[in-house]
Amino acid sequence: MNSSDLWIESFFVGALAMRCSVVTDLSSGDTVIIDGGSESDRLISWINNFEGLGPDWSNGPNTLEEMEQYGITSRNVVALVNTHAHFDHSGEIPLLLEEYDVSWYLHNDDFFLQSLAQSSAMRWGFNLPEPAIADKLLHDGMDLQLGGLRFTILHTPGHTLGGCCILIEVDDGPNQLFAGDTLFAGSVGRTDLPNTGGDFNVLSNSIITKLWPLDEDTVVHPGHGPTTTIGVEKATNPYVGSSNPAFGKYH
Ligand SMILES: [Zn+2]
Ligand SMILES: [Zn+2]
Repeated sequence: MNSSDLWIESFFVGALAMRCSVVTDLSSGDTVIIDGGSESDRLISWINNFEGLGPDWSNGPNTLEEMEQYGITSRNVVALVNTHAHFDHSGEIPLLLEEYDVSWYLHNDDFFLQSLAQSSAMRWGFNLPEPAIADKLLHDGMDLQLGGLRFTILHTPGHTLGGCCILIEVDDGPNQLFAGDTLFAGSVGRTDLPNTGGDFNVLSNSIITKLWPLDEDTVVHPGHGPTTTIGVEKATNPYVGSSNPAFGKYH
């Protein structure tokens, strides 16, 4: 797609400041919510009516009038997609599904985490609704067309068994990667969380084989913390970058 049609909003939500990315095709108004894990009221108010707190970062319109200049009068949420099913990323999916009658996409290997989301949230002192069940599967290499938006799915296990990164290819600018908790600016996802299949060797293999081959200027939107690029992380990431001995192992 063209960069002028790609509207991305970042909402840092919940006690763990998890990045929920709301991606909209400005030529059609079609919208996909990536990792709608918390503060569903805030997301819904903004997406439907530009009301409330709004996003922490956006490259698009901030009012209905501004949006109408693109020729769209409302947004049409066409799907929910998750990088993985840890509770901070998935806990309020049931509330979003009450508002939007759409499918929820998740990798099969994270389905078991849906049933654990409630109990792990309780360990952190949060109450969550009964978990939703994802009705659509993500798999590695999948070309996912959702309304006017097209995504490529990269299965990148290691933080969780079913963790995925979600790529949008842009014709006239840098590609955009929604990385969940696989890769962070200067770090990687935890591999020590209980019951989730975390494994550092698997994670570093995923990053080195699936993410490092991407274009260096690809913008990475991690599940926590600031954005970065593939090129910067490949050169400087202390866990999986070129200065780490693991780098050569898979190259
Ligand atoms: Zn996670
Ligand atoms: Zn997270």
